[in-house]
Amino acid sequence: MKVRRPRGTNDILPAETSNWQLIEAKIREICYRFGYQEIRTPIFEHTELFQRGIGETTDIVEKEMYTFLDRGRRSITLRPEGTASVVRAFIENKLYAAPLPAKLYYLGPMFRYEKPQAGRYRQFYQFGVEAIGSLDPVLDVEMIMLPIELYKECGLSNFDVHINSLGCPECRPQYRQALQERFMQIKDRFCKNCQARITRNPLRVLDCKSTKCQELAEGIPLITEYLCQECRTHFEQVIEYLNQLNMDYVLDPKLVRGFDYYTKTVFEIIVPTLGAQNAIGGGGRYDGLVEEIGGESLPAVGFAVGLDRLMLSLNQQDASVFPQINPEVYIAHFGGATKKMAVSLINELRKTGLWIEMDYLDRSLRAQMKSADRLNCNWVIIIGEDELAANAVKIRRMDTGSEDEVGMDAVIEYLMKHREENSNK
Ligand code: AMP
Repeated sequence: MKVRRPRGTNDILPAETSNWQLIEAKIREICYRFGYQEIRTPIFEHTELFQRGIGETTDIVEKEMYTFLDRGRRSITLRPEGTASVVRAFIENKLYAAPLPAKLYYLGPMFRYEKPQAGRYRQFYQFGVEAIGSLDPVLDVEMIMLPIELYKECGLSNFDVHINSLGCPECRPQYRQALQERFMQIKDRFCKNCQARITRNPLRVLDCKSTKCQELAEGIPLITEYLCQECRTHFEQVIEYLNQLNMDYVLDPKLVRGFDYYTKTVFEIIVPTLGAQNAIGGGGRYDGLVEEIGGESLPAVGFAVGLDRLMLSLNQQDASVFPQINPEVYIAHFGGATKKMAVSLINELRKTGLWIEMDYLDRSLRAQMKSADRLNCNWVIIIGEDELAANAVKIRRMDTGSEDEVGMDAVIEYLMKHREENSNK
């Protein structure tokens, strides 16, 4: 029997990896401009980190973690998200000793045992940013601007930013209680999951995707009516900066996110055409997490972008971030001494930084030309016996079919000159 990939995972094939690399390069470039530096943490951590960080009663910790005992009988979990690990690394490596805020970003796979569907996988890729050590609402706004900059530069246009404040340990408990009291009156009508959520973590009900539960949550008390003065002022300042920068957003007082660590600002970026899994990124403030994980009390804010879904939306919206990539030159030969010459030439030509291909299957010239055509090469260099004797090559321009005989020493010069002429046209 064939071994297949595990459910909910994807093979990203060569035709797509070049697109991923372009997005990744863009991410690194934007982070450079915004002053965020990369941090690489382990793919697995002690389970306790996520239990404490994400919250015991979240779906992720309750049902979605890949947790196992290692051979030393330690409980290990494949990271389901990046923030808890970054905060742990920040504390463990005393990054707080450097000027604050620490501005960090990460890129890599995350693992959640979710029910796979379009845009929802068990291994998926996130790019995330964290700023630790400042309560400035300017940073909340930066966390919204940075992913939007990425989306726009990738050519994505059709997305909405939803924003809310979840309050803090001062004001959220009152809201939680009001919500719970309201839900308790009609508890039986909610889905099984939500019935449990109502007693354990009623805000999570607002995150339920079932339309029935969403309808039941209409007309409920809203968090914005319960915010304390500090949270209210903070939220107003965030909104003011967003207005100042002419950013579009939707105030969404029912927006909650999948983690318990959020305080004050939360936001989500949605592509309406993407179907059920339409969030391409989200984030917020988590002023209590550093202390929760064992550091001193430091405010922080961050976001994560789902790269698989970004890729889906770019393909869907025909965004033109992906230029066609093809080899520049294909070297065709006839075996024997001509092949030897091809090997020397390819070795030289690759030093120019261009993508050069050759025949590795000792095929006929016809078959080699067909390959060069299918690979979309711009030039084919043909080395035959006659050319070998003359210490020269034939260079064919694939779009026009025109051919020149060029001395072996002049090949690089010829290619460079003609490439430049073409790009000037
Ligand atoms: P979260 O870490 O849940 O805040 O998610 C941040 C972003 O990661 C989401 O907006 C999605 O784009 C993406 N994401 C989360 N879970 C998955 C998943 N199971 N499959 C694919 N993308 C995901």
